[in-house]
Amino acid sequence: MPKSRKEGRKHRHKEYDREADSGSSPKPAVSDATPAKSFDDLNLKPDLLRGIYSHGFERPSAIQQRAIRPILRGRDVIAQSQSGTGKTAVFSIASLQILEEKNSQTQVVILSPTRELAEQTQKVVNSLGDFMNVTCHAAIGGKSLGLDIKALETNKAQIISGTPGRIFDLIGRRALQTKNLKALIIDEADEMLSKGFKEQIYDIYRYLPPQTQVVLVSATLPVDVLEMTRKFMNDPIRILVKRDELTLEGIKQFFVNVEKEDWKYDTLTDLYDTLTITQAVIFCNTKAKVDWLTQKMKESHFAVSSMHGDMDQTARDRVMEEFRSGSSRVLIATDIWGRGIDVQQVSLVICYDLPTNRELYIHRIGRSGRFGRKGVAINFVKEDDMETLRDIERYYSTQIDEMPVNVTEMI
Ligand code: ADP
Repeated sequence: MPKSRKEGRKHRHKEYDREADSGSSPKPAVSDATPAKSFDDLNLKPDLLRGIYSHGFERPSAIQQRAIRPILRGRDVIAQSQSGTGKTAVFSIASLQILEEKNSQTQVVILSPTRELAEQTQKVVNSLGDFMNVTCHAAIGGKSLGLDIKALETNKAQIISGTPGRIFDLIGRRALQTKNLKALIIDEADEMLSKGFKEQIYDIYRYLPPQTQVVLVSATLPVDVLEMTRKFMNDPIRILVKRDELTLEGIKQFFVNVEKEDWKYDTLTDLYDTLTITQAVIFCNTKAKVDWLTQKMKESHFAVSSMHGDMDQTARDRVMEEFRSGSSRVLIATDIWGRGIDVQQVSLVICYDLPTNRELYIHRIGRSGRFGRKGVAINFVKEDDMETLRDIERYYSTQIDEMPVNVTEMI
């Protein structure tokens, strides 16, 4: 990481903090860390405040109370909180507040690991900013590069929410100018700084002006990722969650001992009525398994849809739309669906296969129980999976019991 860039950022002005500018009237000191008990306390632009309330939010969630203010004050921020607790709104509200509406250039870049998440974020930004004069564009792989370039040429991307490959491509083509950038937001930051993405993120980072504020967000932030942030963050405010507080009370976790792989399928079909009470997501570890299970379920006349990264974008979009609208109720997916996707009706998650790492477990089960709702997670475990399950249980100091007969009542 070029040292000079980070050095250059040391003296960033607290330029977005309207409180700091509001004359000399003696007010009690509000520190960067003072929680904002209401959205009114954040001195937001009136049209943004209106957007927040009309989006249906009444009070800020705990992470919103703590993380929005430091971003508005120009601080680098690491914001961790449990899944479904409103992190998207943290950086969406902050982005809308810090950008200058009159400046039509791109001022905030939001990076997400999947196309669907980048689009979901764009929609949240647009909804919260509905009464403002702002443009937010989604730039993702699998969709027309030409349209992205056009949006940038016609100044329709004050905020750009995208996947790293496409964003870097646009920067490389000089379609996306970085000179007016105020903030880089990295959602699902631990995933984005993991092997698959890290280089791309650093590539993008190298093009940013020295004063660009960096905000990292995720439900899981392992120590090695936190270590890494020293390289590119400037004295960040860190809002972290202890490992043993990461699972949510509202999400009940169970396992079914299926003993061997062959018995998973029958266990699943036995649960089918339970799956369709509201909506359910079934996670498999590979694309091939998703295809296989989907086909087998369909052959037996169970209505299911499926999604993974080898499907073309049109098909992925269609599945998302059907699932979001509720016309499809059971989705079989890879971990492309593991992080960030918010469908409030999902109350049941099945790990047909146990996830390949502990972080993914938290994200998968967090697809249910959004914003305090009830949720149930059921893990199918083979004989030799039991140890992995117990490891997850210990690691998060949580409880994963054998599935009770009355599980349906918990959904
Ligand atoms: P996270 O990113 O932490 O997983 P999201 O930002 O996707 O969570 O939010 C989860 C759900 O909670 C969304 O449906 C969102 O609309 C809702 N939500 C977020 N903040 C609030 C709030 N302050 N009041 C009510 N609902 C909220």
